[in-house]
Amino acid sequence: MQFHKIVSKFPDFGINKKQEILRLLYEISKREKISSERILNSLDYNNFKTIKKELLKRRFPYSFAHNKEIKPYLPKFELYPGRSFDVKKSKFNPKKILIEKSLTSNYLKDRFKAFFPKAKFIEIASLENFILENKKSGETNYNKRRDIVFITNEKYDFFKKCPCTKDAIGCGYNIFNLGFGCIFDCTYCYLQEYSNIPGLIFPANIERFFEKFKYYKKSKMRIGTGEFSDSLMLDHITEYSLSIIEFFDEHKDTLFEFKTKSSNIDNLLKAKHSGNIVTSWSLNPQKIIDKNEFLTASLNERLVSARKCVDAGYKVGFHFDPVIYFKEWEREYADVIDLLFSKIKPLDIAWISIGTFRFKPELKPIIENRFPNNNILDEELLLGYDNKLRYPYKLRYDIYKFLLNTFKKHYKNLPVYLCMEEISMWQALRLT
Ligand code: SF4
Repeated sequence: MQFHKIVSKFPDFGINKKQEILRLLYEISKREKISSERILNSLDYNNFKTIKKELLKRRFPYSFAHNKEIKPYLPKFELYPGRSFDVKKSKFNPKKILIEKSLTSNYLKDRFKAFFPKAKFIEIASLENFILENKKSGETNYNKRRDIVFITNEKYDFFKKCPCTKDAIGCGYNIFNLGFGCIFDCTYCYLQEYSNIPGLIFPANIERFFEKFKYYKKSKMRIGTGEFSDSLMLDHITEYSLSIIEFFDEHKDTLFEFKTKSSNIDNLLKAKHSGNIVTSWSLNPQKIIDKNEFLTASLNERLVSARKCVDAGYKVGFHFDPVIYFKEWEREYADVIDLLFSKIKPLDIAWISIGTFRFKPELKPIIENRFPNNNILDEELLLGYDNKLRYPYKLRYDIYKFLLNTFKKHYKNLPVYLCMEEISMWQALRLT
């Protein structure tokens, strides 16, 4: 839609009103797969309030039918050429490996050298300095993050509590902050908006994390590495899992979780463990994986890997997160659950989490620019109780209820929790 067509149809409207009309026309035309000109030409009114109400009704029909008030997020609509993600240019093959000079061990540097002999290995004063000297931001940079690896000497940021979201019931998760950034590319990934680092970070001083753990540890805690990265994406290079499994053998009352969308489990299969290590996979219908979880393992590969981990004595976990709403969602998610239980026995499952798609509003234009053909933004996503964009309450309730009932058909007492969901939802689903 060209902005000038809105200007000539509504010359008396101010710029913000015109921008809102443009945004709504774009979203409706993308969702309904008709031209925005056709929608514009069908607008017979001259009153902005009436026009906006009509367009909102058309854009969010479910929400209008179920809620008195809706809170849409209508940022300025801008698509910048050259910012889109290109799967063909996204193979992980770093050009530069930058190493903090305070590091005393060459272990990780040597591992990366063995895998990427053509990369340039350069010593830097520190990651902090490098970022200050090379301040650039934007989606183009995020697309190039796989080109640079930082091997760092972590000094401060070893562990933290998962921040969850405002007014939600938390699951008590703790983050073992071993690295930042991901080689995969999920359309919905919050790192696209959160990250200001022009590369991927891998701390080389894992022993320092272990020293610090005794000060952080609480009895029966749950901790894992999959918050700011994928726990196993490069485990064949870093071999973090081997050190972690060995270390947590001495902390048997702690549950450690490797969270992944990969099938990179060879190190896990050869490690000796004491049963307090959980390997977990995020699950989605293959249709959703194909369009939204680029470069990750397929659903089947994830479940085959989970089966191998169970055979090696591990407990496994599954995260139905984010659950994406789409036309055939019930059948597709039921099929995923049936497939899961055809491979994994309920008693081998440590936990299952469910979380419907939600994200900070700032991520919306980034997804639009990086993935202009995405479908995930076409559904009804409105500002929710925590100011994140979410599906309407009733739709989220229906999704949770359906998944919980489908789980129950396989086993009644699965340890299931909701991720980042408000208290009233837990109560309505009788999960508290
Ligand atoms: S696997 Fe996780 S961290 Fe990696 S891109 Fe996807 S959502 Fe982000």
